[in-house]
Amino acid sequence: METMIKENIQRITARITAACKKAGRNPQELQLLLATKTVEPARILQAFAAGCTLIGENKVQELRDKYEALAAVPHTAHFIGHLQSNKIKEVVQYAQCIQSVDNLDLAAKLEHRLAQEDKSMDILIQVNTSAEESKFGCKPEETESLVRAVSCFPHIAIRGFMTIGALSAGEDKTRECFRCLKQIQKRIIAAAIPSVSADILSMGMSGDLEIAVEEGSTMLRIGSAVFGERHYPDSYYWNENSPV
Ligand SMILES: *Cc1c(COP(=O)(O)O)cnc(C)c1O
Repeated sequence: METMIKENIQRITARITAACKKAGRNPQELQLLLATKTVEPARILQAFAAGCTLIGENKVQELRDKYEALAAVPHTAHFIGHLQSNKIKEVVQYAQCIQSVDNLDLAAKLEHRLAQEDKSMDILIQVNTSAEESKFGCKPEETESLVRAVSCFPHIAIRGFMTIGALSAGEDKTRECFRCLKQIQKRIIAAAIPSVSADILSMGMSGDLEIAVEEGSTMLRIGSAVFGERHYPDSYYWNENSPV
């Protein structure tokens, strides 16, 4: 088991290196985040031992439940799932960045909580680039106004954007999603909005990382290619009505 996770990470790293070479990019520009939903702490610790210390969880409950077991190893945890406002209080305790802020109401509640705790937090704005109903994220055309509004909150630092590419719609459609996010980033950087640094583009997963690298990703979120197939369908994690 142990060697499998290590080998899988080596395999992913080789894929990233090859994709960077093809795209004429420096692999140093790419951060590898391991999507650890459903993965038990012992296996996450194996990934840490193999040198990967950036993880992402989709459920606040999993973030909390695994916290103790992972605390001994320095690492960074991002929240990459749909955030319900009643979970904000907890998520700010356990995550260093929330990648899924997609509306002003949520951001305002987050700001309120952070102010109470006298804490600041990095966030990414999640954009629904595939226009699939089942996915969260703000609409591409609403992103700039959301960024401008959220940029006024003193305890929140916008660091970039996150998207989930179209899943089974073919490579061209996936590429379109990633290009859309890159265009949004360019536009926001050009707008030079005070206190916004939009350097992170979180896009690309196990099945589409090569396309994401070609289209300018700076953070890949990899789950199944490292930890194996999951027993829950992803809709369990991506759907509003899924339990907890
Ligand atoms: C599960 C998940 C991933 C990783 O997906 P894989 O296909 O397993 O690599 C990336 N991003 C989000 C938001 C996820 O929920």
